[in-house]
Amino acid sequence: MRFSPIAQISRSALKHNIARLRQVAPHSKIMAVLKANAYGHGVIQLAQWLDGVDGFGLARIEEALTLRDSGIGARLVLLEGVFNEEDLEQAAHHQLDVVVHDAEQVAMICNAELSQPLRIWLKIDSGMHRLGVQPAQFDDLYQQLSQSNNVQQPINLMTHFAVADELENPQTVKQIQCFNKLTKGLPGERTLCNSAGALSWPAAHGDWIRPGLALFGANPMVGGRAEQQDLTPVMTMRSKVLTVRALAAGEPVGYGQSWRSNKDTHIAVVAMGYGDGYPRHAVSGTPVLINGKRFPLAGRVSMDMITVDVGHANVEVGDDVVLWGQGLGVEEIAECASTICYELLCSTTARVAYQYI
Ligand code: PLP
Repeated sequence: MRFSPIAQISRSALKHNIARLRQVAPHSKIMAVLKANAYGHGVIQLAQWLDGVDGFGLARIEEALTLRDSGIGARLVLLEGVFNEEDLEQAAHHQLDVVVHDAEQVAMICNAELSQPLRIWLKIDSGMHRLGVQPAQFDDLYQQLSQSNNVQQPINLMTHFAVADELENPQTVKQIQCFNKLTKGLPGERTLCNSAGALSWPAAHGDWIRPGLALFGANPMVGGRAEQQDLTPVMTMRSKVLTVRALAAGEPVGYGQSWRSNKDTHIAVVAMGYGDGYPRHAVSGTPVLINGKRFPLAGRVSMDMITVDVGHANVEVGDDVVLWGQGLGVEEIAECASTICYELLCSTTARVAYQYI
């Protein structure tokens, strides 16, 4: 038996989540966002599994070329855009859609010599203030692109929400209004929604939704849980108990002696640490599933191990442990570590084995 963590990636969970997204946005196409190695799930395998999806969103050109090299012919959208002419020609050659989000990129596209016209998405900064052309620049940049031989017409239109995960926040309505006002009457397809937008802002569904997190079965809404949205975790992070030891009341566990038991108990040591991607800042009390039962993390997370207070339960060497995934939401673990589930999913390290099931 080996005592090392395994990320199990479930195809049926992924299929379920796609079906769920099609149900919430029945009139929209799906651009499955697979950046950052499909949020740590393995981009090539997931793109192959997501065969029937309308397109994929990647952040960087290297990610898209990895998919093209592995034979993925689907529509691929470069969400961060392209920053030099060589990459622009690569995008044209490999038929990658390019997001255009500032005046420099517009100028570069209009002046480039390309083997074929690019399909583009002109991104508007409707209030996120990260990427996107300013509302005041929009008409001018749109005109330049619509007259360029390097651009397939019509130009597609895009924006990104800052707080779609907060239902009470008026910002999302403002962003929708800003986008609709600027793009009114223009041809071309529209996309506004990330997962939170897709799940909670139906008025903004547009022609395409761009879900990432929800595809992987986590709830993007603040304080949300997967089951509230009928989503199923795609990744289940599993490991094994590598030893169990008795601990007397008052004795501490682990580095810094940050936790002491107030009773006689047993500590299960589990093969999973921050060297595998378990969050170093998970607090004592963070739930861990051993043989399907919840027990609290006790003491600091080490590089290769965590320690769990299992009381007097029947826990043995080699028992099954779930760190997050089916039966234990990644949202809850992220909250216990003062982070977001996006970060946890992306943080799995190279020494974790992947099992596609
Ligand atoms: N669209 C863009 C432009 C993004 O940057 C992201 C991810 O951050 C997404 C869509 C997907 O977001 P989410 O994972 O919240 O669905």
